[in-house]
Amino acid sequence: MREPCFGSPGETQGMGGWLLAIFSISVANLGMRVLSRFIAAATDVSQFPVPSVPEIAFLGRSNVGKSSVINSLVGSKLARTSSTPGRTRSINFFEIRWPGKPRPELIFADLPGYGYAKISREISQEWPRFIEPYLQERPTLALCVALIDVNVPPQDSDRTLLGFLNSSGRDFLLVATKSDRLSNNQLSTAMRSLGEQYPAARLLPYSSKTGAGRDQLWKEIRRVAEERAGASQTAAQN
Ligand code: GDP
Repeated sequence: MREPCFGSPGETQGMGGWLLAIFSISVANLGMRVLSRFIAAATDVSQFPVPSVPEIAFLGRSNVGKSSVINSLVGSKLARTSSTPGRTRSINFFEIRWPGKPRPELIFADLPGYGYAKISREISQEWPRFIEPYLQERPTLALCVALIDVNVPPQDSDRTLLGFLNSSGRDFLLVATKSDRLSNNQLSTAMRSLGEQYPAARLLPYSSKTGAGRDQLWKEIRRVAEERAGASQTAAQN
């Protein structure tokens, strides 16, 4: 098991001037750290951790930038980034804790990347065995974060995933990765086009490189997790 490591959801402050901007970043780092720890890798339903706190699942094609998004959220190299597509064949679970709190608040579930021809046979075997059961039946799954590379034209595999999430009734968020590679104008056009293709999805542009979108994604994650935790408390009281 890896040692816990420190990161920051990085709540920004609207301050003018670069000196103040630097100050606000260091304040944010002091104020909003998270502790994260790898807890399990599952290739079978029997290996899933016992359901406990709300879970956030991260899904996307290989190379979409999924590991980079997870690492940028927690501020450390928790998930592996790799130039070898489809290397991660398990669901990897990480617990997320706020400093000073005794128990984890959240679990991040990093799902296997999909969509490369040479691994499509494996994928077709893996989905029914443990990925679909996870997405359909996991009682603590609170939010699916579906990642799409905003620089790449929409792929059939992405449409399939989004269709699956739509019909599963799961709350999901569509995160458009690598937004730093586009100009502001190009990004607006690309986001509009994604909105037209996936009208039901909540959309968020994201760059692990610059940190753009990180605060908004943390806000969504925390909101969903708090709602879920509140609902379980109410259920326990009744
Ligand atoms: P994964 O296979 O989905 O986990 O993708 P990785 O996180 O390993 O990233 C795949 C490649 O995209 C790597 O070469 C990363 O450096 C690059 N990448 C990931 N996120 C970003 C980003 O926000 N901006 C840019 N420019 N490149 C990125």
